[in-house]
Amino acid sequence: MDPRPAVTNYTLAEFEAVLNTLGLEAYRARQVLQWVYRRRAASFGVMTDLSKEARDLLDRKFRIFASALSERHVSTDGTEKLLLALDDGNLIETVLIREGDRKTVCVSTQVGCPVKCAFCASGLNGLVRNLSAGEIVEQVVHVQNALPAGERVDSLVLMGIGEPLLNYAHVVQALRTWKAPWGLGIGWNRVTLSTVGILDKIEKLVQDRVTPNLAISLHAPSDAIRVDLVPTLKKKISELIKAGAAYREATHKNVTFEYVLLDGVNDDKKHALELGKKLRGLRCKVNVIPFNRVEETPFRAPSQDRLDRFVTALGACGVPIMVRKRKGDEIAAACGQLRAMAERTKPVDPTIAAERSAP
Ligand code: SAH
Repeated sequence: MDPRPAVTNYTLAEFEAVLNTLGLEAYRARQVLQWVYRRRAASFGVMTDLSKEARDLLDRKFRIFASALSERHVSTDGTEKLLLALDDGNLIETVLIREGDRKTVCVSTQVGCPVKCAFCASGLNGLVRNLSAGEIVEQVVHVQNALPAGERVDSLVLMGIGEPLLNYAHVVQALRTWKAPWGLGIGWNRVTLSTVGILDKIEKLVQDRVTPNLAISLHAPSDAIRVDLVPTLKKKISELIKAGAAYREATHKNVTFEYVLLDGVNDDKKHALELGKKLRGLRCKVNVIPFNRVEETPFRAPSQDRLDRFVTALGACGVPIMVRKRKGDEIAAACGQLRAMAERTKPVDPTIAAERSAP
């Protein structure tokens, strides 16, 4: 394992301080970060506006990235999946989604996930560990560096593997680095953080003045259905909706409620009407996500008919809706499939498998 800390783990102020202790001028920090975040440097050797001695010193003390690009898969619809190898041998996945000219990166925040939503592949083996700030930050840098010269990533969704608000400090540092002028310059209006509903941390984002757009994974119109789908986190639907409305009020950012549509579970017209009643007038959107099949779970995607009926009924309640399109199917980059393919070769914990196949 490489003992050198990665540059992507530092804020500008921290990096200035540490360079000072090494006898380098503070302004060198900004220069190095510019090379990393704007000029696609993969080594200190290319940083030609630093002396050879400075570059050698930096190379002895630091590395640029904490992770290494291991594989890159490109789908015919333009979706790309990068597999990044971490120091400890774990792999994480980062996805680039193209929509017209828009390039959005879907970022992971943990290796595995402790939340274990019943339909999701990410939690099948529980949490392995949190990602460091650098490991989160540089997913976007690796994607950007693989784009044709001059092209940049313009928006981010924290919708990869893991629950971002259970890795709060590192996620917040990553959000600051992405936004910073010395970082990637991707403002929080162009970032959406998706959470299963860690309510105290949603409030903390507001207190800390770190305010991306927010997506709350609701997935159910009632507490009874929600508890089956998200058994480890007992939050009431009313509390989740209230938290979304409060965030919107405090930040004026976009708030969406995500709703994974599962055949025969939460996709009836009556579910749409029940949900519609609770969301009416809130100025929050619903993002309906047709389920992407995960073999280890008993769930199925609804038919197009049922999807249409659900959306029509919810829309009739005056709730704005978006239905998420499928992207990157052929490279297994769709929602909830991340890492599951690589993990599939490992045995699934039999107790979890049994719980999941229960009716
Ligand atoms: N932990 C965060 C991010 C999860 S990924 C959260 O819970 O919000 C983003 C969205 O994809 C979540 O709403 C998640 O529930 C959903 N999702 C997970 N697996 C899925 C699958 N197989 N099909 C469709 N959506 C899925």
